Amino acid sequence: MSRLATTGEVLQLIRSGEALTRADIGRVTGLSRPAVALRVSELLGRGLIVEDAEGPSTGGRPPVRLRFNAAGGVVPVASLGASRTQIAICDLAGDVLLRTDLDIDVEEGPDVVLPLLMDTWEKLLDGQAPVVGVGLGVPATVEFAAGRTESARVMASWTGVVIPPIIAERFPVRVLVDNDVNVIAMGEHRVVYASELDDLLFVKISTRIGAGVISGGSILRGALGAAGEIGHIPVRDGGGVLCRCGNLDCVDSVASGTAILRDLRAKGREVLTMADVTALVRAGDAETMAVVRQAGRWLGEVISGAVNLLNPAVVVLGGDIAEMFQPLVSGVREVIYQRSTQLATRSLRIERSTLGPGAGLTGCALMVLDHVLSADAVDAAGG
Ligand SMILES: [Zn+2]
Repeated sequence: MSRLATTGEVLQLIRSGEALTRADIGRVTGLSRPAVALRVSELLGRGLIVEDAEGPSTGGRPPVRLRFNAAGGVVPVASLGASRTQIAICDLAGDVLLRTDLDIDVEEGPDVVLPLLMDTWEKLLDGQAPVVGVGLGVPATVEFAAGRTESARVMASWTGVVIPPIIAERFPVRVLVDNDVNVIAMGEHRVVYASELDDLLFVKISTRIGAGVISGGSILRGALGAAGEIGHIPVRDGGGVLCRCGNLDCVDSVASGTAILRDLRAKGREVLTMADVTALVRAGDAETMAVVRQAGRWLGEVISGAVNLLNPAVVVLGGDIAEMFQPLVSGVREVIYQRSTQLATRSLRIERSTLGPGAGLTGCALMVLDHVLSADAVDAAGG
């Protein structure tokens, strides 16, 4: 390092495991022993690191090992869904410590939902370790820097709402809000794939269809935060279905959970929920299988376009529908390999979500931790 490493930079070395002892820090940064001691004692004093007595012995007195203190604070997080909201308290490693799910209709609006959310966090926290930041995933396009929801997919009453200042009245810390699929993509990437690849496309197939893009290791948001809105790309031969966005044959209008239920009802099947559809698939109902497989092909058509554009190393299919239907996932696979360029698919993997429904909570916590534990933020807070 050409200039003196700061306390925040020393924390990054310990967090990443690059430096385990004071001697390591000196070697990596070139800092003098007193300078290392000063930064380490500041981090110890702030509870960001702890000392472990037993280090790897090299003969004589074993060196004291330094470890990032995941228990040094907590991050309240929530992943808002159309009808169900997951709420949790995470530690500074992003692991879920406490969790509860609430059946709230988000259409009740921010005036009802946000206070309920904050009450639930307070109950879970019960006066625990310091809150270092708050993270939320919402089913809407989010102007990330401001935390403002735009063109909400399912929550019209939230359009234009700037969430962070409302939360900060009760939790006066950094509050970050992002699109629900973006935070799921971040969680899935960091926990499952970060050690092996940097480019991932996550497609959530549920009541609605959305995608999150990890490119070069970071979330791709686009100019206004609308990147990954794959649901409103039209398919060929969709039959002229009018989408709620006003266009025809968007993949969301022909292949989402909502569309599958509508098409089966039109064919005389009595299906209320996706669980009813699952039952028909299991029973081998040919017409239901055909509808589900066709939905998979339409999804594959749109995803193959995204694969050509983005060249991800892995496409991860998540959401309750991807989890339920092997025929749908097979349809998606088949069309992606047919339609995408050879180069883009040479080593492409197509996987089902590993983390499942909890990915959004972990993703929310990591989004916050990347900010509040960055070298700049740590130095500014210590200043
Ligand atoms: Zn549309």
